[in-house]
Amino acid sequence: MVTQNEKIEFDVLFIGGGPANLAGAIKLMQLARQNNLELEVALIEKGSQIGSHALSGAIMNPIALKELLPDYQKKGYPLETIVKGDGFQFLTNQKNIPIPVIPGEMHNKGYHIISLAKFTRWLGSLAEEMGVNILPGFAGTKVLYGLDGKTVIGVQTGPKGLDKKGKHKSNYEAGFDLMAKITVFGEGARGNLVKDMGARPGIFKKKKMPQIFETGIKEVIQLPEDNFFKTAPYNDIHTLGYPLGLNTPGGGFIYEMADNKASIGLIIGLSYEKPLLDFYDEFIKFKKHPLIAGIIKDGKVLEQGARAVSTGGLFTIPKLFSNGALFAGGSAAMHNAPGLKGIHLSMKSGMLAAQTILRAFQKKDFSEKTLCSYDENFKKSWAFKEIQKGRNFSQALAKKGILKPVYLGAQYFTNGRGIRDSMPLIKDAATLKPLKKEISIKKKNFDKNYFDDILYVNKLTGIYLSKTKHREDQACHLIIKDQAICIDKCYKTYQCPCTKFCPGNVYEIEVNENSRQPRLILNPANCLHCKTCDIKDPYNNILWTCPEGGEGPDYTIL
Ligand SMILES: Cc1cc2nc3c(=O)[nH]c(=O)nc-3n(C[C@H](O)[C@H](O)[C@H](O)COP(=O)(O)OP(=O)(O)OC[C@H]3O[C@@H](n4cnc5c(N)ncnc54)[C@H](O)[C@@H]3O)c2cc1C
Repeated sequence: MVTQNEKIEFDVLFIGGGPANLAGAIKLMQLARQNNLELEVALIEKGSQIGSHALSGAIMNPIALKELLPDYQKKGYPLETIVKGDGFQFLTNQKNIPIPVIPGEMHNKGYHIISLAKFTRWLGSLAEEMGVNILPGFAGTKVLYGLDGKTVIGVQTGPKGLDKKGKHKSNYEAGFDLMAKITVFGEGARGNLVKDMGARPGIFKKKKMPQIFETGIKEVIQLPEDNFFKTAPYNDIHTLGYPLGLNTPGGGFIYEMADNKASIGLIIGLSYEKPLLDFYDEFIKFKKHPLIAGIIKDGKVLEQGARAVSTGGLFTIPKLFSNGALFAGGSAAMHNAPGLKGIHLSMKSGMLAAQTILRAFQKKDFSEKTLCSYDENFKKSWAFKEIQKGRNFSQALAKKGILKPVYLGAQYFTNGRGIRDSMPLIKDAATLKPLKKEISIKKKNFDKNYFDDILYVNKLTGIYLSKTKHREDQACHLIIKDQAICIDKCYKTYQCPCTKFCPGNVYEIEVNENSRQPRLILNPANCLHCKTCDIKDPYNNILWTCPEGGEGPDYTIL
């Protein structure tokens, strides 16, 4: 049994196998080849395979893909289909009203519909062919710093085979100290390592607006052969209105996929205010709306999952470099909020990071002095211009009442300036409104016809369809800092919103009718790694940490 962390040296280490880092690793290998530079590059991913934790819509603007791999079509690129037209609908309870004017950023005609799980797997195989050491099943759990306490010198991966009390089991395997001259953090929305670094002085600049997020629940549905998309003039539908209403930010989407499949999801802005908003119920209500139910009629759910996305945009982008470290993709809030797109921007940020890494190796300087060119190049890029245009969009979307359309409309006429530049943002954890009176939690008693276990699956079946798994006999990776807060404060004030926003049913409240003393029950094995609990908990009482590498969902087509 090895109990000491083994140390492995690389030149460059990428944390996370999403589109940002995979594009970054591929670009770096291309540049290294062109410049006759030998680099030892590794990429770790906490999922059991590249793509296992990848979930997105996904309509992709192919601009970054074309820049990175001009011959992508010859390399087995897993395209689902091309957007043939956009359908934008406002939903009331029972009706739908087509919105005639589609905002510019939401014109997707000609863009690619993809599955992010398939796309990242494909990028991963290309990166591996080019010599990147792709290491799935390894979760980065701790950032390693040099003697000055500020220079990043690598990342530690978590051990495997600890029991609930943290004792070694017979199959214990120590983690690794993965050392690198440059570490690129591409953990996606709410990365746990990036969050830790944010709490450390001297890494990020103070006075940045907080990152804000949305969470989406998504399914892939197998449709019959003669389905809606065969004759419809559009295969990319976005909805506003029902079931969320106008005061809860978010909306629905449904896209055509290859082989008579559809991608369907509901995204909810985590700046919502109602503590009793139940994400899964809202998702099912969306699917049951007559327009949507008609489109997915006679379908069967194949896979389900959930994930948060960082949507704050420009004003929430952290400092992009530090001594020995670069930040890319969703971890660094690379997102076009009005266009609902982050894949191409994440890829571009990874590619820009690669250019800076090349320069750093040529100059043999891995300090901020050289790495700051990443930020300079980002500011000159099309990605910056695109993000800048949507800089006040999430703030406008979070507005309530009749002025909301005014705030949103102003964005389009002022090139993103809006009514006020920059509009402030509130941390998602601070937006819930306390309940006026304590309502006792009742188990929902849905009509038994509500779920049919085929097209409308209940939450537990949904979790089963995400294929998520965690070894039960290990310490809980969701750390409740103070259990008393859950009952004494959170239950009384908000009725434990974690039990409603968590799409994985990780948090449950059991109310003992006799003592009326509620009890929080945790089911960490169900966790979908969406990170909503770490973001939205009003008392900042839940800490999401990486479980053993290789655990969590196993998405294949999301
Ligand atoms: C529901 C939904 C719909 C969306 N729709 C669209 C769309 O239609 N078009 C679009 O362009 N964008 C869309 N987005 C946004 C898009 O998916 C993201 O912008 C993009 O995936 C970000 O890429 P990334 O590489 O930064 O992060 P991610 O895709 O999140 O990848 C990060 C990877 O890092 C791994 N990881 C994290 N932490 C660690 C660690 N400590 N150690 C090891 N591995 C780690 C994760 O498991 C994951 O695989 C959507 C997002 C969601 C949630």
